[in-house]
Amino acid sequence: MAATKHSKQRDALIEILQSTDTHPTAEWVYDKMREKFPNVSLATVYRNLKHMIEIGIARELYTDNSSRFDANMSDHYHFMCKCCGKLFDIFPQGESSELKQLKDCGFSVDRYDLSIYGVCTECGKAEQS
Ligand code: ZN
Ligand code: MN
Repeated sequence: MAATKHSKQRDALIEILQSTDTHPTAEWVYDKMREKFPNVSLATVYRNLKHMIEIGIARELYTDNSSRFDANMSDHYHFMCKCCGKLFDIFPQGESSELKQLKDCGFSVDRYDLSIYGVCTECGKAEQS
C-alpha cells in the first residue's frame, strides 16, 4: 500500500521532532514542515503533535507563554531559563529523594516530569558583564 500524504506528513513531523533536543514550539515545527510540505497547515502540525503525545512518543511541556514539545521520553527534568527561554535537559543521577519518599509510602510511580526555573549559565554571565 502506498504511503498516503497524511502518513508521509506524520512521519516527517516525527522525524523533525526526534532530530532536535531544543524542545521547539509548534510554530518552529510548522516552519520546518513547510520546507518539505509548502501547503501543510498549522492545524495539521498541531493534530500530528497531539497524536504523538497520545501514542506516547512525545510530551508537551507547558511554559509561561507557549507549549514546547519533546520527543525524548526517557525520564528527565527540565530547566527553563527565564532570560533566553531555552529548555535544558537534566538527567537525574540515581533515584531522587522525592521518588524514594513516594516509594517508601507505597506509591507506585509510572512517570514523572519536573521543571525548574531560573537563569542559565550563559544569561547569568551576560547579566554580570
Ligand atoms: Zn538563558
Ligand atoms: Mn527534554
